[in-house]
Amino acid sequence: MAEPYVIKMPQLSDTMTEGVLVSWEKQPGDRVERGDVVATIETDKAIMDVEVFRSGFLAGPLAAVDSVVPVGEAIGYLTDTPQGSVDSPGMVTADSAKSTDSRARAAVEAEAESASVPAPAASAAPAENAYPIKMPQLSDTMTEGVLVSWEKQLGDRVERGDIVATVETDKAIMDVEVFRSGFLSGPMLSVDSVVPVGEAMAWLVDSADKVQREAKRALASATGGAANRSVGTPAPTPAPTPATAPVVTPAEPAPAVPSDGSIRPAPRPRGAKATPYARLLAGSRGLSLDGLRGSGPDGVIVAADVSAQTAAASNVAAAAVAVPGDGRPMTAIEKSISQAMTASLTIPVFHVTMHIRPEALQRAAKAEGVSFTVALAKAVSEALLRQPRINAAYQHPDRIVEGRPHDIGIAATTEDGSLVVPVLRDLANKDLKTLQEEWTPLLERARKRRLSPADYQHPTFTISNMGMYGVSQFDAIVTPGTAAILAVAATGPDGMPVTISADHRVVNGADAAAFLKDLKALVEAPQSWLGASGPAIPEGNYDVQVLVIGAGPGGEDCARELAENGIRVAMVNHAPLPGGECLWRGCIPSKAWRAAADRIRDRVHDAAMGIQLGEPHLDWQQLEQHRRSIVQTRGEMALKTDQGMKIQVLEGHARFTGPHSVDIEGRDARTLTFAACVIAAGAPAFVPPIPGAKEALAAGAAVTSDTVWDLTAPPKRLCIIGAGAIGMEMAQMFHDFGAEVTVLEALPRPVAEMEAELAEQLMRALAKNSPRLQVFTDVQVKDISGEAGNLQIRYGKGQETQVVAADLLLIATGKRPDTSGLALERAGVRLGERGAIAVDTRGQTSVPHIYAVGDVVGGYMLAHTAAQQGRVAAANLLGHRATYEARKDCGVTFTRPQVAFVGLTTEQAKAAGLDVVEVKVPMSIDAKAMMTGETDGLIKMVAERQSHRIVGVHFLTDHADTLVGEAVMMVSAELTLEQVATAIHPHPTQTELFGEMARRLLSRLRRSARAKA
Ligand SMILES: Cc1cc2nc3c(=O)[nH]c(=O)nc-3n(C[C@H](O)[C@H](O)[C@H](O)COP(=O)(O)OP(=O)(O)OC[C@H]3O[C@@H](n4cnc5c(N)ncnc54)[C@H](O)[C@@H]3O)c2cc1C
Repeated sequence: MAEPYVIKMPQLSDTMTEGVLVSWEKQPGDRVERGDVVATIETDKAIMDVEVFRSGFLAGPLAAVDSVVPVGEAIGYLTDTPQGSVDSPGMVTADSAKSTDSRARAAVEAEAESASVPAPAASAAPAENAYPIKMPQLSDTMTEGVLVSWEKQLGDRVERGDIVATVETDKAIMDVEVFRSGFLSGPMLSVDSVVPVGEAMAWLVDSADKVQREAKRALASATGGAANRSVGTPAPTPAPTPATAPVVTPAEPAPAVPSDGSIRPAPRPRGAKATPYARLLAGSRGLSLDGLRGSGPDGVIVAADVSAQTAAASNVAAAAVAVPGDGRPMTAIEKSISQAMTASLTIPVFHVTMHIRPEALQRAAKAEGVSFTVALAKAVSEALLRQPRINAAYQHPDRIVEGRPHDIGIAATTEDGSLVVPVLRDLANKDLKTLQEEWTPLLERARKRRLSPADYQHPTFTISNMGMYGVSQFDAIVTPGTAAILAVAATGPDGMPVTISADHRVVNGADAAAFLKDLKALVEAPQSWLGASGPAIPEGNYDVQVLVIGAGPGGEDCARELAENGIRVAMVNHAPLPGGECLWRGCIPSKAWRAAADRIRDRVHDAAMGIQLGEPHLDWQQLEQHRRSIVQTRGEMALKTDQGMKIQVLEGHARFTGPHSVDIEGRDARTLTFAACVIAAGAPAFVPPIPGAKEALAAGAAVTSDTVWDLTAPPKRLCIIGAGAIGMEMAQMFHDFGAEVTVLEALPRPVAEMEAELAEQLMRALAKNSPRLQVFTDVQVKDISGEAGNLQIRYGKGQETQVVAADLLLIATGKRPDTSGLALERAGVRLGERGAIAVDTRGQTSVPHIYAVGDVVGGYMLAHTAAQQGRVAAANLLGHRATYEARKDCGVTFTRPQVAFVGLTTEQAKAAGLDVVEVKVPMSIDAKAMMTGETDGLIKMVAERQSHRIVGVHFLTDHADTLVGEAVMMVSAELTLEQVATAIHPHPTQTELFGEMARRLLSRLRRSARAKA
């Protein structure tokens, strides 16, 4: 093999065009044999192994983990000699690598954990092709675990993803999951065995008759002592020193550590390198190398660094007095605490105490519906913002890490009385409600000792509250990696004693005192940072307590919420019936048309299924009667409901005359005074200054989304300016009604708010399924001339000009608030961008008693957005703190296939500073879509890499309007991939795709995390 052999991204299904590189199973320079699995990749269906057809040495450049590689492109190379990297990879060609389904080939998850720790066989495999279920390494510091329970019995059939056992690590009890199916076989270790990481605990065999039913063997019981540990446990060998190991001259002779295998090396440090001997030395002292700064070449951690870090601790350990009697071994958690506390003896600590009155914060916490713990943690975070050094940490040698997020560990007691410290993350950027939502399940897991590493690792500050035990005063021990800990004792006559213990290398006495002073001010006057609570409707002699201007979804939902809570509300609207644009000119009438267009469009699928119903024919008069009766009926129903709820409904146009008064013109003309006001005036269609546009509108040759409802017949040739949601919906509906439709769009893609890949696929789907519809993007309309039935619309790029001939022009260039008729200046309400009223997330304007919601404030101009903002404004007026969260909002564009979204795209999430990953599934592989002939499009799910929280789901598919509902719950409730992966979805439905995507992404994250470790 003179030329390097290219390992290409294989095509593993008809629909696969690209794959995600999930993990490298071999390293550059590794000898690879024919049939070896070198990498795993994620296709549009599953995670699969990449196997090679020939032997050689793996060489780079390797595709990066998590990169998306088109089918057929190189992901790596094989060479004859171990050369690490090929010089001119572009020059060579070869066959694609082969991949086999991961279900058939993947080993149990625990197997791959042992990259840094050799996996000695605790017992012989029961049969050929048996797979060991090994003690996984579940935390950075874990070197062994206690087998707590078997969740499956010998001989049980086990499926991929099943939990077979639970193990206790040094921090918590965790599940052991398997990643292949089979039958659980012996030899099986017995409960309470202490099992080194990488050791087999049991086996999986491929048939029931191969199950070995050997009695459970004890390896070393948790209570049996370390001396027993060698039973059946071959000694692990420390990792060999690589040939390229840096040459190190230690500052002091490296201490001797037995190299007979009796010491297990510490895990490799995260984001750094350590010599094997440094790891062995750290392992002998039970230390983690994370965060330790190396003094070797290129920052490699050497033995001298470990010695320096632990000098004081080892002195203390050496001075330990022999205690008579036969002690029991510590549990894993006790041992971990003991080691951390011993290490903390190297920290020069001082203590400062202050008394704080907690009552105001207790009241505020109650009013906000959160626990005192959460409110106190948030107050601490506010104080840390003012005194950031308290949140820093010492880094050996002689460095200080600053600017960390506020990840606060809060000491909690488990059900069995142990101590754990779950970490509430990023407090500075979260409100109280969010923090409480995160704390409640975290505390529950902590009590049951079921924390995952992400739940407890790397706090930047700690709070220990022993006040509930009546402790009058105490100080706590600073844990390495933090600079301070706050001890909170029981409130006495002088208040609640809080003591800060701080690392003097990072924090000086004045910092600590200033921190406590700030904390005292924050706890004793929480309104200074929480905002005022209590009703925000001013007292006074007004005609009504709240006036709502506008009766669309924003105004109506707000008025109903207020009335429901006993507030005297008037709602003024310049139309006889409520409903606003949504009911009369927007959502409802357009979807009535869409429903008719769907009936026509779906006939194509009838034929494909062998049903012959003939050519559909549209009766426009009948459709219009249907549409009008829907909106009229709903308008009347809404009015009855509003009046029944005792809302004073007025018809007319309201204009401010001062901060507490309006003049109303129209049927219910009057002057009205109000204590508070909510402006929900909507936004009309925006017409850009295109030459001829005004004239065409005046002559009835052009319409907007406000006037399209007066058509006496659908046009035969329709031109639409604007490929936004309204433009695209109208374009395809009129296409389905029989028109030739041309859409002209200035931006490079349609539906600008839509995810880029989905937009591209929508264009492809339209080209395929809407033959009389043409969309030209990236073009400018130059002018409009002619009359109804004979219009010319000139458009083009730069100098080049084309002409569209049409019977009718629809100008769908968006909506823009127009507040000129409201005389806002008389009330003092300020505008923000593009004529929208400026508001905060509660809906409050520049005038504290005046709120604004819906289209008039800009942002997403959608009915449910307006309604939510209306309810948020009402809640704030009632004295509850509520905010509108745009990052959890959603929307549907009713084209075919439909476009829908909830939450953030990957691009938006990254721009917001989130570390996210996405997974997608094409509809072409979905059984239900095949049955109905609706295979166009895809679904994408976006989740945070660390927390696994789902932050967005994006759809291009038929029935997205229904499917998005489940995704809305995921994003609004901040569900994790695990929760969605384990939820049971009915079959055969498209909701199953959510579970599949979540499981696939989880699997990828697990594998790539292991590959990066
Ligand atoms: C064709 C089309 C299709 C749409 N489809 C959807 C969809 O499928 N889904 C979706 O979520 N959204 C859709 N929308 C958008 C949706 O209609 C709006 O986002 C929503 O109606 C905004 O609600 P709102 O309460 O802010 O304002 P509006 O519904 O516009 O209500 C404002 C009301 O205030 C009144 N008003 C204004 N000024 C005064 C004043 N000074 N005095 C008295 N009354 C006043 C107006 O007459 C109006 O009745 C669509 C819009 C269009 C045009």
